Amino acid sequence: SVNEIRKDFPLLENQKVIYLDTAATSQKPVCVLEAEREFYEKYNANPLRGLYELGEAATEKYEEARETVRGFLNARETAEIVFVRNATEGLNLVAYSFGSLVLKPGDEILVSIMEHHSNLLPWQMVCRQTGASLKFMECEMDGTLDLNKVEALITPKTKIVACTHVSNVLGRVNPIRELAALAHRVGAVLVVDGAQSTPHIPVDVQALDADFFAFSGHKVYGPMGIGVLYGREELLNAMPPFLTGGEMIESVTRDGAVFAELPHKFEAGTVNAADAVGLHAAIDYVKSIGFTAMHQQEVALTRRAMDAIGEMPHVHVLGSEKPEEHCGIITFTVDGVHPHDISEILASDGVAIRAGHHCAQPLLAYLKHPSTARASLAFYNTESEVDRLLDSISTLRERMGYGK
Ligand code: PLP
Repeated sequence: SVNEIRKDFPLLENQKVIYLDTAATSQKPVCVLEAEREFYEKYNANPLRGLYELGEAATEKYEEARETVRGFLNARETAEIVFVRNATEGLNLVAYSFGSLVLKPGDEILVSIMEHHSNLLPWQMVCRQTGASLKFMECEMDGTLDLNKVEALITPKTKIVACTHVSNVLGRVNPIRELAALAHRVGAVLVVDGAQSTPHIPVDVQALDADFFAFSGHKVYGPMGIGVLYGREELLNAMPPFLTGGEMIESVTRDGAVFAELPHKFEAGTVNAADAVGLHAAIDYVKSIGFTAMHQQEVALTRRAMDAIGEMPHVHVLGSEKPEEHCGIITFTVDGVHPHDISEILASDGVAIRAGHHCAQPLLAYLKHPSTARASLAFYNTESEVDRLLDSISTLRERMGYGK
C-alpha cells in the first residue's frame, strides 16, 4: 500500500512540502542511499584500474549494475549498456559520434515537435556541423503522432529519427515500435529518449526495436549523475569515441591509441561507480514494487485530479482526455493566471509543481501555450496530496482577484 511505500521515502514524510514534481526528478528510496553508502564504506576504489582485491570488488559492483540495467531494458548484451551522466549526455553522445559518422550534406534528421531540448539541441548542432537538415514530426493537438503523416516525412534522405518515448509535457506514450519500422524501412536509425518512460512503464529495447535508447537514473528513483545509453552493438562498435582519455583504451603510443572494447570505449575517465550501484538498487526497488502496481496508483491519482479539474471551468489539462495516457503528468493552464503565479501560489500552500516551458519550447509554441504549469505524480503520492493540489488550484483565480 502507499502507506507502506511512504516509509521508503523519508523526505516525502519529513518535509512539509507536497512533492508533485517527479517528472523533473524523482524522490529516492532509502535503499538507494544505503547502496551508495555501502559502496563507499566497503568497496571504494577506482574501478577497472586497481588490480588489488578492493579494486576488483569495485569493478564487480559496477559491472553488476550494468548487467542489471541490461535486464531492465532487455538489451541483448551488457556491452550495449554505456554509463553516462544522464539522458542528455547519452543523446549528445549519439549525435556527436554516430551523427558525425554517418551524416553528409543533404541528409535529414527527423525529430518530433515534442522533444525535450536535450533531444533537439544535439541534432541542431550536428546539422550545423555536417550540412544535414532537421525536419519535424508534428503531433495532433492532444499529443498523438499520426503515423501516416510521419510516414510521408520519412524518405531515403532520412538517416536518423529521434523521438521521445514519453513527452515530459503531455505524458503520452509514443508509438516507438511503429516509428522504428518506418525508420528501418529506409535504413535510418531510431534514437529514443526514455527519460520519462523508464520511471513509469516497462521498456524492452528489443521489442521496441530501438537502435539507441537513453535515460537518466535520477528520474527512475535513482541518484543524480548517472544515466544510461543503450546502443545496438554493431552501431556502437562502428562509432568513434565521444570522449577520450583514461579507462577507454587498450594501448597508447606517442601518436595513437587502440580503443578498448565496448562498452568501455565510451566511458572515458574514472567512472561513476557509486551512482551506478545506486541505480542498481533503484531498479531492484522498481521491480519489487512492480510497474503494474505503480501504474495503478498513478492512474488512480491522475483520474482523481483530472475528474476534479474537469469540473473547474477555467482550468485546462493538455494532452489526452484519458488519465491512463498521462504517465502521471498533468500539464495545465488556468485562464488569466500566469503559470509562474500558479506555481508560486501553490508553493505558498506547500505544493511543489513546475511552471514554465519545461525545456520543450517548440512544443509549447506549437500548442500555443508559451508556458504552462505541470504537476507530475508518482506511485508514492497519496490521494490527500492530490486533494491539496486540487484545493489550491480551485482557489487560484479568486486569489488572483477574479470573482467567484
Ligand atoms: N528528456 C526528457 C523527456 C526529459 O523530461 C528530461 C528531463 O527533464 C530529459 C530528457 C533530460 O534529462 P536529464 O536532464 O536528466 O539529462
